[in-house]
Amino acid sequence: MIKLVRPIKPRQLDEETISLLTQRFIDNPNDSVWNQPYIKEALMKSSHEKCCYCECKSDKGDLHIEHFHPKSLYPNEVVCWENLLLSCSKCNRAKGTLDTVTNRLVNPYDDDPKEYIGIDKNYILRGIDKNGIGEFFINSIYKNGYIFKLSLYYHTIYTPFQIDLEELYKNYKIKDIGRNAYSLVSKLCNILEMVQSNKPYSAALSALVINNPNFIYLKTKIENSLSDDLISDFKFLYNEAVKNALKYLT
Ligand SMILES: [Zn+2]
Repeated sequence: MIKLVRPIKPRQLDEETISLLTQRFIDNPNDSVWNQPYIKEALMKSSHEKCCYCECKSDKGDLHIEHFHPKSLYPNEVVCWENLLLSCSKCNRAKGTLDTVTNRLVNPYDDDPKEYIGIDKNYILRGIDKNGIGEFFINSIYKNGYIFKLSLYYHTIYTPFQIDLEELYKNYKIKDIGRNAYSLVSKLCNILEMVQSNKPYSAALSALVINNPNFIYLKTKIENSLSDDLISDFKFLYNEAVKNALKYLT
């Protein structure tokens, strides 16, 4: 889960529309009044077409508009812009009707998830804050074994990067990288591209890549060999990865 920036409320969702749709829902709770294409489109864009809770990037059909404060308990917030997020059916189901007004749940639009959740060397997500907010989130949303499925996904995507980084380390360890520097920079950029916000599971994968000892070695090597302006793309991608990365627990 990464920090998201809440998009500007679509102009179609004006005060009049909000009260009209809210009343329709109160009169008939089976009326999916929140299911408006302009709402879904704005949420899709801001969550990089991923579930806001687990960052899976399943096909659009499996991403649904979700109510942070459950609509069954807070019908007046059924189309309240600040209450809408995009989530996969798995996370949506797990969250169910959890009362998030009385139970503190991390909201990626309001909170920075990396302050609450870390990842250990076995790719398992763990709560890291002393108030247990991260742990509560994990137990509430990644339940019924989903946490293990997620760790398997991380492992599957990360392994090729890990192998590439090991290979690069072997190739560049003893060499004065000199004229090979650019090719190394571009290979490291390719890996960083794959853990950016628009890619699945970027919070976990960023943490794994930037804490990989071979990556750290190679990063230092290019920083010592090339001037900052020659590695500006690398620096940009790296800083974005740092922004998203969960705390890596050793
Ligand atoms: Zn999800």
